[in-house]
Amino acid sequence: MRPPREFETPLCAQVDGELWFPEKGSAPPVEARMICGRCSHKTECAEWGIKHETHGIWGGLSSRDRQRLRKQLNIKLEQPRVEEWLDNAQIRSSVERNQYKGDAAS
Ligand code: SF4
Repeated sequence: MRPPREFETPLCAQVDGELWFPEKGSAPPVEARMICGRCSHKTECAEWGIKHETHGIWGGLSSRDRQRLRKQLNIKLEQPRVEEWLDNAQIRSSVERNQYKGDAAS
């Protein structure tokens, strides 16, 4: 399963990202759901959100929608694997440099 940041043409990339992260307790923005409804990544984005995300709109599903689906389908929330966060070369390089310093100091 790909993380959404790897999607080729996410429609949300063309709009203010804050629309997908409403304040806690407020209603999910209709506009975000409508845009997700037209996005070619809707299904895989929703799957990602159900398995990994507690905040925001993913694949048109709010945090409450996803929580309900996890409960109905007995799906456990998973943390993204560390390597998924580290595939940005700059971040990886920074982490490797710090590991090297740590090794040299010990
Ligand atoms: S489904 Fe929605 S949140 Fe997911 S990539 Fe598409 S527009 Fe963005």
